[in-house]
Amino acid sequence: MQATAEREGTNGAEPGRRLARVVDRGGFGLHPASMVSTDAAEWAMVGTQAGARLLVVPAAARANLLADFDGERGEHGGAAFLMGPLTARNTAALRRHLPWLEPRPLPAGTSAGFGDRLGLATPGHARALRAAGGHITPVFAQQSIREMTRAARSPQAVVDDATWGSFDAGWRDGQGADADHLKTAADITACAAAGFTMFTVDPGDHVDRQADSAAPDVLRAAWDALPWNELEDSPASMRARLADRAFDVEGQRVSLDERALVKAAVKYGRAVAHVTAMFRHLTALKGGQPFDFEVSVDETDTPTSHAEHVFVVSELRRLGVRWASLAPRFVGRFEKGVDYVGDLAAFDADFRVHAAIARAFGPYKISLHSGSDKFSIYEIAARHTRGLIHLKTAGTSYLEALRAAALVSPALFRSIYAFARERYDEDRASYHVSATAADAPAADSVADAGLPQLLEDFHARQILHVTFGSVLTARAADGRLRFANALRALLQASPEVYEECLERHFVRHLRSFARP
Ligand SMILES: [Zn+2]
Repeated sequence: MQATAEREGTNGAEPGRRLARVVDRGGFGLHPASMVSTDAAEWAMVGTQAGARLLVVPAAARANLLADFDGERGEHGGAAFLMGPLTARNTAALRRHLPWLEPRPLPAGTSAGFGDRLGLATPGHARALRAAGGHITPVFAQQSIREMTRAARSPQAVVDDATWGSFDAGWRDGQGADADHLKTAADITACAAAGFTMFTVDPGDHVDRQADSAAPDVLRAAWDALPWNELEDSPASMRARLADRAFDVEGQRVSLDERALVKAAVKYGRAVAHVTAMFRHLTALKGGQPFDFEVSVDETDTPTSHAEHVFVVSELRRLGVRWASLAPRFVGRFEKGVDYVGDLAAFDADFRVHAAIARAFGPYKISLHSGSDKFSIYEIAARHTRGLIHLKTAGTSYLEALRAAALVSPALFRSIYAFARERYDEDRASYHVSATAADAPAADSVADAGLPQLLEDFHARQILHVTFGSVLTARAADGRLRFANALRALLQASPEVYEECLERHFVRHLRSFARP
């Protein structure tokens, strides 16, 4: 008896056989892609009246592992099993038993981050990755502190939702988890505790926005007032080290004359000091465990020049900071949810040198933020980075959720859109967007069949993109969430529609980067 059970569990001669018997008897809806056998147990996600559940059927000799999980226990044909809810404790235990679900630092090659504001997009993202082919390591859990606040999600919920999505999709090819646009040490501490492995530090508040247009005497005073102590430096030694230097970057000259140095230092010096402090905080916190560190200055007003890029990375290096990826602010406009706005030849010329600097001073990846829907620049970015790139998308999966809603429940989508259009002027404040509510069609002027097409309208798209927080947290007079629960319920009831929307949309993003 014992020997038979042990053989099933260990050799997997018929993987999932005991689990299939339990599913049959219980009348549960098996999610077939999730089913996996290990030496210890058979595992799967199943649908029940009460929602999705984890089903664990341990090998006979390993029944004690069920103590790691909360849920209802049962027995069928001598096999013990457990049906557990998707709680934080069960998620943590699942990651321990199925270690490929654990986020890890990324390998050196191409990677892609998929923001998921609703926590239900991972299976669709996994489908898109499989369909695109190539070697792209995903970051399924990725959310900025701003988005977590707006969508009322905790760092742990972001990581855990991606764990369940990966399990559900049978994704076993590794993944990272990116705590995005972190501004404070407290942000880092909270996200490290939740199991994030990639930490994107945004020193944008410390970038001097006036430096590009300041008069020489203003620049000089700002240079004198830099935090030289924190930079562990002095004006004289920085000048001796960097002024009037020309860096040869793969045959391209990037020069820092005295004026360019002062401007770069004034613009980014405080940001360098801030990033250094954040890196040291994280390093101490992780106590020798590896992590990915990203530096992002993409959300600043003016482009990062090549000389400024060189200044930032040579100073970070001097201060002992080690990073896996860096997001400069490129030329042109990277508006939310729409294609690149700008001159493609100018982007090509600018980006090419940033990619060369990343090889010469690293190598590290160039990170392409606000990277969703920038279809016209993907080929340029893939070519110049030669695979050393991280593509980061944030809100476009939420827009695909809305597309699924428009297809399945026009009434729900129409009410969300009407609400978003009213909220837009207030909500747009912290985003790079140029849509106007007046230019977006009114909600009641579009027939049901035309609603999905609003996702192709520049104005409607940006309006829906930046109002997600208001939509997901809006409450009716009786205190109940106005849209969030209905939207989640719709996506959970029609996973196929949502996954198809995501797959179609993301394959268009990934295929340029999917090198064999
Ligand atoms: Zn960004």
